[in-house]
Amino acid sequence: MKTFTSLPIWAALAGAALAAAQELVERKVLAMGTVLELSVWAETRAQALEASELALREVERVETCLSTWKPESELSRLNRTPVGEPFELSSDLERHLGRARHLWEWTEGAFDPGLGLLVQAWGLREGGRQPSQSELEQALAAGSMASLEVGGGRATRRSEMQLEEGAFGKGIGLDEACAVLERAGIRKAVLNLGGQVRFVGQADGWPYGVAHPLERGEIVLEVVSRGGSLATSGNSERGLVVGGERRSHILDPRKGTPAPDVGSMTVWARDATTADALSTALFVLGPERGLAWAARQDGLEALHLISSPQGLQATATPGLRGRIRGLVAELELTFLATPALATRE
Ligand code: ADP
Ligand code: MG
Repeated sequence: MKTFTSLPIWAALAGAALAAAQELVERKVLAMGTVLELSVWAETRAQALEASELALREVERVETCLSTWKPESELSRLNRTPVGEPFELSSDLERHLGRARHLWEWTEGAFDPGLGLLVQAWGLREGGRQPSQSELEQALAAGSMASLEVGGGRATRRSEMQLEEGAFGKGIGLDEACAVLERAGIRKAVLNLGGQVRFVGQADGWPYGVAHPLERGEIVLEVVSRGGSLATSGNSERGLVVGGERRSHILDPRKGTPAPDVGSMTVWARDATTADALSTALFVLGPERGLAWAARQDGLEALHLISSPQGLQATATPGLRGRIRGLVAELELTFLATPALATRE
């Protein structure tokens, strides 16, 4: 008794918290056109189940708001509103568009959630097609976030631009679901939405598998987590064929063409929306510029993986040192020497 009461209070509390969050509930469901895996720890099984249910419903809510695969989603309705006519935004969509706009500005347009016309022109949802020159020019001229005006609870399209959630919607889904879990008192959870992961609390040591750039099913290395979120963009995800040639489903918004195949780009960030959008943006910037840019940002780490005749090459920002575990012999791993100040443009 005496020894227990003489324990420092923080040690007793920490011990109690650790002992408390023991029950693990794991669920696997279809959501946002992909698979959502939830692992939620709580004091009791009932609490973990209830919280996981709230998280699932939140992902569904985001889908109802953002999915342009659903004609009645709020974003689809905004896309259908005539040019120049204001659209009343829900507070959720206003918030989501605000985050998307911030990421567009931060990446200087490498991530552009307003490139829906380009997605249509290249037939990204139908397996790919070659757009005509005039179609491309039109999509390039009109199709950018620059043509969306947002403010005072309204959004107005100033051109035929179309919003496209493909590179940030899953991130928003993960972030919203995790916010709900945190509000429900959950201190530890791991959510995996179609290969993108977001942690609640200190899920330290949780391995995030990165697949071979050409073989989606083969995990070749692991990034060991420190909370936050991880996302990967790359060509093995979805094959797109244009004129018999394999093309990337990631587009360079400035050129209006598919970004060159550079393997895959994995990003760690504190939140999932950033990791999602930035993995796409760094893929567009390409490995050299993308990694150097990432190394100069706060709260961002990145890993580039490419397969060549010499083998598999991974290059990562310095903050990932000690956090990458190779799983195959032919993997060559290097790190940027320092935050790449020398390559500052
Ligand atoms: P995945 O959806 O396979 O996880 P990404 O997160 O990289 O891959 O998102 C790619 C999707 O985002 C494309 O299918 C397209 O809908 C859209 N997209 C492509 N290029 C861009 C870009 N530069 N900026 C914003 N969205 C993009
Ligand atoms: Mg992405």
